[in-house]
Amino acid sequence: MEFSSSRARLRHARLAGDRRELYPHSLQFYQDPPTENISLVEFESFAVDRLKLLKVVENLGVSYVRSGDTYKTKLEQELRKLKFPYKALAEDDYDARRKDHISHFILRLAYCQSEDLRRWFLQQEMDLFRYRFHELSDSLRQKFLEHVNLSFEALTARSLPSIQSDERLQPLLNHLSHSYVGPDYSVQKNTGKISLEQIDALSVKSFPLCMRQLHKALRENHHLRHGGRMQYGLFLKGIGLTLEQALEFWKKEFIRGKVDADKFDKGYAYSIRHNYGKEGKRTDYTPYSCMKIIMSNPPSQGDYHGCPFRHSDPELLKQKLQSYKVPPNGIAQILELVKGMHYQLACQKYFELTHDIDDIGFSLNHPNQYFAESQKLLSGGRELKKEPNHLGNSQQKSSGQESMNSNSAHSSSNTTADAELEELEAYFAED
Ligand code: SF4
Repeated sequence: MEFSSSRARLRHARLAGDRRELYPHSLQFYQDPPTENISLVEFESFAVDRLKLLKVVENLGVSYVRSGDTYKTKLEQELRKLKFPYKALAEDDYDARRKDHISHFILRLAYCQSEDLRRWFLQQEMDLFRYRFHELSDSLRQKFLEHVNLSFEALTARSLPSIQSDERLQPLLNHLSHSYVGPDYSVQKNTGKISLEQIDALSVKSFPLCMRQLHKALRENHHLRHGGRMQYGLFLKGIGLTLEQALEFWKKEFIRGKVDADKFDKGYAYSIRHNYGKEGKRTDYTPYSCMKIIMSNPPSQGDYHGCPFRHSDPELLKQKLQSYKVPPNGIAQILELVKGMHYQLACQKYFELTHDIDDIGFSLNHPNQYFAESQKLLSGGRELKKEPNHLGNSQQKSSGQESMNSNSAHSSSNTTADAELEELEAYFAED
């Protein structure tokens, strides 16, 4: 990876001969950006692993006392699993230290692009650093403090102009800052398992708040604006609605409002078919992750999309939770998490309260994950029963259709899909 500073290049040349000199401590202050060239594959896998690590740091930070044994044990387990430095005295962990160094700077680039992202990244890195610092022995701590120069240098954003001109890296960085770690909830494995008659009940039992809000607004107004149709339509596709079901579902609802059947067929059906990869570029679009919903396209007046934990006024959120019979102490906990900008953790708390469990047992990253976990729990660990097929459950990808990968680690393809989706969004931006 080249951050193209000649000073840094010289420094690298000086240090490259001695690995130990390059990373003399397991703990780093990340003063100098890395200067070596690395492959895009390594770039991506380092970034995804660090993102996983920081998400665990966030999760543990609100679930356990930071100085407690459980917090420390679980964080050490994650560091070991992801092959980051975990033991202050280990001498042969050059690869782990290098990964720590490079991955930190990749995420710095990805997360310096807005105030929200910066804050989240800094908070997690601070917690990680604090943990590692406390794990050092007194003498190592002293050595580390002597080694680092604590003088402050301004934020990574200054490196962005040169990075932005690199057409390979910028989409990857944009994607990373909106990415999540987990499967993409593409449609194939669930298709045809839901009937339209089940949706009202499912929206109460198993939809996350964002989708419950969209479903309610659709039923009440018989219409959703563009952002809502995209977010909710792709979610429904992810839980298993076939194209035929989706067309029926949206049409039935819209013609109860101001849109007649003809207008629906001409104006809206095309975009639904497009979402299912049956029009245009034939891309099989992937349901939105929490990060995408939280970080992009905030709702404005008259919109119902977005994440209620991020985008609702706290007072309105409180009223909504009260109307959904969430107990007062649970609402207080959720609002506290929202105040600390832990939106996905607030959603996890909502899951726990509405499913009457103490520990959600997974890290929430995706509305479709919320749905799948809820269904698993409510059916005692079993998958949804397949509906008798009278609703057309034979939705298959066409042979020329682009296949979305099943793991966000392959985010290059997701990046392409994101770009295409944005194109589609712009095309169908009318309400
Ligand atoms: Fe939806 Fe994710 Fe927000 Fe929960 S955290 S409401 S699943 S966007």
